Amino acid sequence: MKEVFEIIKEMPPAFWLVMIFCIGAFVGSFLNVVVYRLPRNCLSINNPKRSFCPSCKTQLKWNDNLPIIGWLLLRGKCRYCGVKYGLRYPMVELLTAGLFTFAAWRVVYADGNLADQPMVWLTLLHAILIISVMLPWALIDFDLRMIPDKLTLGPLLVFIPFAADWRALDFGLASLRSTPDTAVAAEPGVHRITHLMFSFEPVWLNSMLSALAAGAIGYGALWLIGKGANILFAKRVEEMGGEAMGGGDIKLMLLMGVMLGWPKLLAAFFVAIFIGAVIGVYQIIARKGPGTPFGPYLAIGAILAALGSSWLVDLYNAYMGFLQGMA
Ligand SMILES: [Zn+2]
Repeated sequence: MKEVFEIIKEMPPAFWLVMIFCIGAFVGSFLNVVVYRLPRNCLSINNPKRSFCPSCKTQLKWNDNLPIIGWLLLRGKCRYCGVKYGLRYPMVELLTAGLFTFAAWRVVYADGNLADQPMVWLTLLHAILIISVMLPWALIDFDLRMIPDKLTLGPLLVFIPFAADWRALDFGLASLRSTPDTAVAAEPGVHRITHLMFSFEPVWLNSMLSALAAGAIGYGALWLIGKGANILFAKRVEEMGGEAMGGGDIKLMLLMGVMLGWPKLLAAFFVAIFIGAVIGVYQIIARKGPGTPFGPYLAIGAILAALGSSWLVDLYNAYMGFLQGMA
């Protein structure tokens, strides 16, 4: 096993990044299937096994199915009935591939060059899983304003055990603490790991329970905000038909807490509010009705917090420095 790791380490970064890009394109192609089939109860993910044209239902050839390339070869049209396939299919594939590559670069090469640590692959897998869950979540919520429970409970079953890997949840938080990262890697004492909420050992159990606690707090906080908004803006909420905060958004906070741990959950939430505010102002200026649900913003926040938390920490530190300068 150690030799395999040595061989892998010798490979040039570009080789790995191109490989990850290709894997990402295929996963993106699968995510398109998930987004189309999961909310449609008559279809399951693996039945029918082969992809079919949503218009004429003809089974597609394997080469039509290749991510990005298939769409380009067919120029976005069905070979059999000529119906146009939206640009969204190749865009989702390209986005997934791009995010996977970015995650690999961030996790393995950018942040203090973790390539030397064997456990870095687990952190990368964690980041890739977050992308693979958050993208279909955002797209289904955007399309249908609802989220199938399968997309909350299924990922929870994966991410709860994964939260035992404190390195993945602590990734990118180095500049929040005073002890250098090398010390944390060498000796993972509970006081050295930022996302832990408790002070008991073993670290893996502490990490898992901390992530669950973060999820529960996020869930409770958003539930309270929703109830408060229902009371404060009762009239407006009734006009919009129902609840200020959808049940899907609240469940997403639980999942995000378990995926990210508390400092990143908070960062993701603020990113979501910021994007929501910017788009909300644009919609008012452009005189468009409130068109977008909150779920996609939360999903973008989660991906950004998972991959860019060190930048968010830098931003936060700069802001605190600015405030101190003012005082
Ligand atoms: Zn067709």
